[in-house]
Amino acid sequence: MSMKIRLVLLFIISAISGCKVENKGIVSALNSINTDSLKKEISILASDEFLGRAPSTAGEVKTINYIAKQFKSEGLMPANNGSYFQEVSLLKITTDNSMQLNIKGGKKQLSLKYSDDFIGSTPQVADNIKIENSDIVFVGYGINSPENNWNDYAGIDVKGKTVLIMVNDPGYATSDSTLFNGKAMTYYGRWTYKYEEAAREGAKAALIIHETGAAAYPWAVVQNSWSGSQFYLEDNELTKSDLQLKGWVTTETAEKLFESAGLDYNQLTLSAAKRGFKPVNMNLKASVEFKNHVEHTKSNNVAALLPGKDLSGEYIIYTAHWDHFGVNNTFKDDSILNGAVDNATGVAALFEIARAFKNLPEKQSRSILFLSVTCEEQGLLGSEFYAKHPLFPLDKTVCDINMDALNIFGKTKDMTIIGFGNSQLDNYVVDVLKKYGRYANPDPMPEKGGYFRSDHFSFAKAGVPSLYVSQGVDNVEHGKEWGLSQSEKWIMENYHKPSDNYEPDKWNFDGMMDDIKVYFEVGYDLSASKDFPQWTAGFPFKSLRDKMMQVR
Ligand SMILES: [Zn+2]
Repeated sequence: MSMKIRLVLLFIISAISGCKVENKGIVSALNSINTDSLKKEISILASDEFLGRAPSTAGEVKTINYIAKQFKSEGLMPANNGSYFQEVSLLKITTDNSMQLNIKGGKKQLSLKYSDDFIGSTPQVADNIKIENSDIVFVGYGINSPENNWNDYAGIDVKGKTVLIMVNDPGYATSDSTLFNGKAMTYYGRWTYKYEEAAREGAKAALIIHETGAAAYPWAVVQNSWSGSQFYLEDNELTKSDLQLKGWVTTETAEKLFESAGLDYNQLTLSAAKRGFKPVNMNLKASVEFKNHVEHTKSNNVAALLPGKDLSGEYIIYTAHWDHFGVNNTFKDDSILNGAVDNATGVAALFEIARAFKNLPEKQSRSILFLSVTCEEQGLLGSEFYAKHPLFPLDKTVCDINMDALNIFGKTKDMTIIGFGNSQLDNYVVDVLKKYGRYANPDPMPEKGGYFRSDHFSFAKAGVPSLYVSQGVDNVEHGKEWGLSQSEKWIMENYHKPSDNYEPDKWNFDGMMDDIKVYFEVGYDLSASKDFPQWTAGFPFKSLRDKMMQVR
């Protein structure tokens, strides 16, 4: 080869590679995301040695030390005054289940049986709870929402009373797109909101009427999730309120109450979804007494920082919860809930993304916070704690990008944006996916309230724009129907069960690798931007963000 040709070739090669580098200069970063290390990290986090990663257990100690060690070895700095840990103070309240809920004042006296007819517990720090003859008021959906011009508590004082509330919201019930968000569940439809609002209104007890469609899960899930110990942040609004009992009743129980009160259940629950609904005093009285065991305990978020260059005072957060359900001896063969998919995969992705940022040829502009939070499975408590006690100012926090349960079924053409349309962040995801010939899919079942069920929501609730991009269903090899059926099958068989194990022979890591690269690139694009993407007009927590950005 002549010198001249060699030079020309060299020029062409450098032009090509130069072009690649100019393609955001992130090739080396993307190449450092690695299937072997990903597999190793998941296998360790999901191993029996980590005891199912339950908060405040020996499993937590192993887990958070491993995460901190990984953050350190990827070259990240401790984010909390020299420590990788942010301590989260918790209340653990265990209710004695031998309680009975008695209803008087109607056609006949009712003695409701725990678990069969109702579920209840208290957010109070008290050994004993006693409610005597508290008036029962049916408050429809129990919603007080100025922006929807809707108040189910209008004209009635429920202080000291027991409120009976329907789950979900009037938009879901009527499929009327002009009410709330139509069929998609709004935060006003979530059970957490129902208790929060009842507490703000001064109620003594709040009982949600379970209905499988509206709640998105059967009564068995209510029985399992609300009968054991309940965790709260030590500093929380429910404990500070007068709310003594929060619980659920079955549809059958609710029908019995209405019948005893001489009221038409079907007619009143229908009218509750219409404008102009007025709360109904049922002329029934509720009494209950039960004991509790209260523990004050602690858990930890793990937080590591990769400082930026030009805009190091602005932050992009990546979250992935580390906690799962620990050991449950009612499962005989395999009592450890290893949570391999949920959410060892998300935590491992944090490490992979951290390494990618470290491998950028030029340091990214904004700072990146890698935050592995605790107690997601206990009601998003670790992320809520962070949002209330941020390590870096929220008005300088551009967004949260949350990862929870990654794809094990192979490459997909799509990714699912849970809450598609809520903020301008979606555009970043759409653009990155487009670059790879992929597309964004809205949540196929927004009525199930998936938007309120992972840690990005704690940031949303505090006003900070946040993204929850979940795995796609449009499988490259087998198509969309197959993809959907695989993920539905997985949820039925393995979700929150001991069989959520690490199974490298069964899993296909190709889709997970693709998705991690998308998470990285979305964060990278945001880190290179000067923009603060905003919530879409009408989003319930937009005003919080607008307010904090004005003060800035
Ligand atoms: Zn999860």
